[in-house]
Amino acid sequence: MKITFFSAQPYDKKFFNECNKTFGFDLQFLEVQLNEQTVNVIEQTNAVCVFVNDKVNATVIETLAAKNVSIIALRCAGFNNVDLEAAKKYGIKVCRVPAYSPEAVAEHALAMILTLNRKTHKAYNRVREQNFSLNGLLGFNIYKKTIGVIGTGNIGKAFCKIMLGMGCRVIAFDIIANKEIETLGVEYLPLINVLQQSDIISLHCPLNEQTKHIINQQTIQLMKTGVMLINTSRGALIDTKAVVDALKNVKLGYLGIDVYEQEEKLFFKDLSENIIEDDLIQRLMSFPNVLVTAHQAFFTKEAIEQIAFTTLNSVKILCENKIPENKAILLT
Ligand code: NAD
Repeated sequence: MKITFFSAQPYDKKFFNECNKTFGFDLQFLEVQLNEQTVNVIEQTNAVCVFVNDKVNATVIETLAAKNVSIIALRCAGFNNVDLEAAKKYGIKVCRVPAYSPEAVAEHALAMILTLNRKTHKAYNRVREQNFSLNGLLGFNIYKKTIGVIGTGNIGKAFCKIMLGMGCRVIAFDIIANKEIETLGVEYLPLINVLQQSDIISLHCPLNEQTKHIINQQTIQLMKTGVMLINTSRGALIDTKAVVDALKNVKLGYLGIDVYEQEEKLFFKDLSENIIEDDLIQRLMSFPNVLVTAHQAFFTKEAIEQIAFTTLNSVKILCENKIPENKAILLT
């Protein structure tokens, strides 16, 4: 049984090879992204393993089917980059890792909040230059602030618990309320009220037709002036141009993004010697109150170990024509 990995990084090889000692698959690691051009490099493989920026559209799936690939294994939770209808049409099984370590992403959202607020990144550089002044480092207490959470699934729920632990009022919007966190004190409100009342807004819903550009010029206008916006979910939840305008007119006080709508041309690559043609990301990175990380929220040892195990175990189960016990793993 051969699995071909696309967008494979050194850490993918390390963790998957280690985990594969108990599975014994033939693993092939390719650095290239899967798309309409690169799909043709596949030779005699049973499964492809893809990540967030691989483009698994209908054309790619048609070619995969022609090459007798029977499984697409996403080594991530989000699946907006895979045409599930096309996969169903060609009888290709699509699986994912629905929850590997929600705390990893939730904790990164907190890291972004604290960095933006307390400016530890600036303080680190400052003291190394023997500048011990505090000017420009003023923050605010997170304690008792109102935190708005959009999407309270695995990650949103973990994030709510962290923020409740910090003594915040946590309000949330989701199409399905979660009783467990409601009991803990999270208050579900309509989206409009969450946007209006929050000091910090954190996005944890998936990207789909309903949520694309959920943060746009109109919804930003509803927010408090000086609000902090955090996105560790998917880039296209935010209309980036609208957010740049809101940063320029100081409606938005802080922005922390681990994901970006056009990230597939940038993230997971070392472009330090290149000219970046994307003016929007360059503008974003020029603001002192913007923190960009390159889709690293999931990136903890525990999370990658779990991703590797769930992915290989799902492929094993599907090869045996069985159904994974956790229904959320199988998408087709
Ligand atoms: P999940 O499926 O457990 O939860 C998603 C929640 O969003 C659900 O409660 C769902 O009801 C809610 N939702 C769906 N549509 C909505 C809408 N229109 N408005 C409000 N809420 C809506 O998913 P999760 O594991 O919590 O992950 C959330 C997202 O985080 C993923 O879709 C993925 O895009 C992203 N993610 C990012 C990273 C990273 O490294 N940055 C890692 C993992 C996941």
